[in-house]
Amino acid sequence: MMWWLLALPALWLLTLWLLILLLFAGPVRAAWREPVLRHPVLIIESDDWGPGPASHAQALRSLRDLLTAHRDMTGRPPVMTLGLILSLPDGEAIAASDFTAYRARLVTDPAYADILAALRAGIDAGVFVPQLHGMAHYWPPALMSAARDDPAVRDWLLAGPHQETEALPSPLQSRWVDGSVLPSRPIPAEKIHSAVAEEVALYRQVFGAAPEVVVPPTFVWTPEVEAAWAAHGVRALVTPGRPCIGRDAQGRPVCASTPIHNGQRGLGDIRYLVRDRYFEPARGHRAEQGLLALAGKTAQGRPCLLETHRFNFTGAGAEAALAELDALLRRVLAEHPTVRFISPAELAEHYRAPGVRPFAPLGRRLAAWKARMQEVPRFARLARLTGLEWALAGFTPRSRGKVT
Ligand SMILES: [Zn+2]
Repeated sequence: MMWWLLALPALWLLTLWLLILLLFAGPVRAAWREPVLRHPVLIIESDDWGPGPASHAQALRSLRDLLTAHRDMTGRPPVMTLGLILSLPDGEAIAASDFTAYRARLVTDPAYADILAALRAGIDAGVFVPQLHGMAHYWPPALMSAARDDPAVRDWLLAGPHQETEALPSPLQSRWVDGSVLPSRPIPAEKIHSAVAEEVALYRQVFGAAPEVVVPPTFVWTPEVEAAWAAHGVRALVTPGRPCIGRDAQGRPVCASTPIHNGQRGLGDIRYLVRDRYFEPARGHRAEQGLLALAGKTAQGRPCLLETHRFNFTGAGAEAALAELDALLRRVLAEHPTVRFISPAELAEHYRAPGVRPFAPLGRRLAAWKARMQEVPRFARLARLTGLEWALAGFTPRSRGKVT
């Protein structure tokens, strides 16, 4: 009879663990299905480049020189994506119309020739990878509407041709909603379609091919926008890990709680990538944080897309930011010698055809699954309280920061 006394609690515990796994079936399945990368992958994702002050050309040249000095074990330099904005307002022309008609100054304008040349030099050197951020970092009718009511926006609009969109109120920086009123209003579908066609055509004219990857300004986009991008051949969309479709009454992004996973299929042939780690030296981020982000993502078998912005490298702290980026890359190569520097477009192609390199074998997949489930707080808590965490540890190899 003694064995019953022992077996009953064990059976009860097994049932409890099974119930927990069933309760979290959605996240459990999603964490298992997302492919596991074999190597650490680091991509520096840098947004908001394009028309701006002439000094930005020098900032781009400094970045190019810094990046070309590093190499991964395959001989490839680090990839810094440039989320590109393709125009600014032409304040003179808009004022001449008495603020009744929006006019743009495109990135091809002679005022930005130096910046464009520096961009292209970095692309040719293999360290910059262009991505479409948008024709503008705002929805032009929303900007015009705000400029009629808000003197600060009007001054910004007239301050060209070198103004910086970072100075606009945050809701106005969302391109794919009308943020001139809060909560934001949606943009009619036909206007979205013509705006996407226009930005893709200009991108193609400047860079010789349609954009493969898009990064929605402020990470606010709608299914209509995504469908239009897909129809124009876009193959990857950089997301913050969940969809955000507007701005609330306080101007904050309105996001669904549904998580997005790397490689998940979007509309058309689009694949999602997740960028949810940050390296903004101007906001106090140090190399250490970048390293921790890479170690965490590597344990999860995920790529580390580190978000940064041009303001780090163009403002008063530019030199310090460059030094921090240099330190980060040196330490990444020393502490993660198998790291791979690849572009988001290449990464998306890997997710499109998993089951082949660079994805990992079963034991490594189990360890990555366990590391991913640690990011589901309620599951992690229950697993710890009920001993499920201990049981899972017995089934999985130790999760390692470095994967070979
Ligand atoms: Zn941006």
